[in-house]
Amino acid sequence: MQPSWIAKRTLAFDSSGIRKVFELAASLKNPINLSIGQPDFDVPAPIKKACIEAIEQGKNAYAPTQGIGPLRERLQADIDRKYQHPDRKVFISSGTSGGLVLSMLSMVDPGDEVIVFDPYFVMYVPLIQLVGGVPVLIDTYPDFRIDMNKVRDAITPKTKMILFNSPGNPTGVTATLEEIQGLATLCAEKNIALISDEIYSGFHFDGPMRSPAEFNPNTIVIDGFSKSHAMTGWRLGYVHGPSEVIQTMIKLQQYSFVCAPTPMQWGALAAMDHDMSQYYQDYAGKRDRIVAGLRDYYEFTEPGGAFYVFPKIPKGTGADFVRRAIEHELLIIPGNIFSARDTHFRISFAAPDATLDRGIEVLRKLARS
Ligand code: PMP
Repeated sequence: MQPSWIAKRTLAFDSSGIRKVFELAASLKNPINLSIGQPDFDVPAPIKKACIEAIEQGKNAYAPTQGIGPLRERLQADIDRKYQHPDRKVFISSGTSGGLVLSMLSMVDPGDEVIVFDPYFVMYVPLIQLVGGVPVLIDTYPDFRIDMNKVRDAITPKTKMILFNSPGNPTGVTATLEEIQGLATLCAEKNIALISDEIYSGFHFDGPMRSPAEFNPNTIVIDGFSKSHAMTGWRLGYVHGPSEVIQTMIKLQQYSFVCAPTPMQWGALAAMDHDMSQYYQDYAGKRDRIVAGLRDYYEFTEPGGAFYVFPKIPKGTGADFVRRAIEHELLIIPGNIFSARDTHFRISFAAPDATLDRGIEVLRKLARS
């Protein structure tokens, strides 16, 4: 094959480095896997049953592009109750990732600048580049807080969008109400599209989850069922925001994803009636476990949500630290996958407590050596 077949737009970025750690994992006999970005529990049985029933009842054809009526209506009713924005509409996407792709395609023109807080979810920068946008990184180290002065300084006449994610991947840090409100009002004032990636909204441990959409009715919220109900393989997300933006995303979905998987949407409808609070409470316990286990050994900001901690590497590069961890069968992700810096590493605490304890033991050993 000719190398020239490959489109230039794909050359700006590499394949996700996380996959390389997963490949390494396959070669270990008894890995302590703290690298995975999905809950360690399975989809609860009633949700699986609803999906299986949908398949058996022949609900296997295309769904409407915007999603099956009952799921959409249910989400819309919840959204209307919460926000009371007359122009806020929802549609079902193929995962949160599908919602992110369609957001970029719908709103970012070549040359438009998109502000991203560093460290960031791996997909953000490549997706911006894919549509010809220019990622503008705002460094949030060492505490991963958003400094509104830095945001104001980063805004230019070309700024089209700000990508915001709380609870955050890879840090687990949850934004304060002041940060959320500050971003929301700044975007309203400057007429900048604010995307709020709320995929970890279920995993928000210390008080209720707040959204910038409460303070700026034009905020585009992306959420989904992947993390909240451990259905990362079901590919179900949803996006809500101003109707013009949502209509554009639905139009593009027609020509790309077509629709989110139909039987899974019936499963998701059942998921909306399933109480997940005990699962999230267990994860708050896992957060406490890992924080207590590492507090005296590493520098990190205590996560308020998601299932990640992002500690500072005591010395050396990320690659070197991860190699040493793998020598002890521990899988973690080097921070440079999520960042312009190579100074931290990501731990996922979405694992059984016994695995967390083994991981803590190795990490303590590595901190001392
Ligand atoms: N946003 C963030 C911040 C994530 O961490 C992930 C998954 N790792 C996604 C979006 C994509 O999730 P989905 O499975 O719904 O596509």
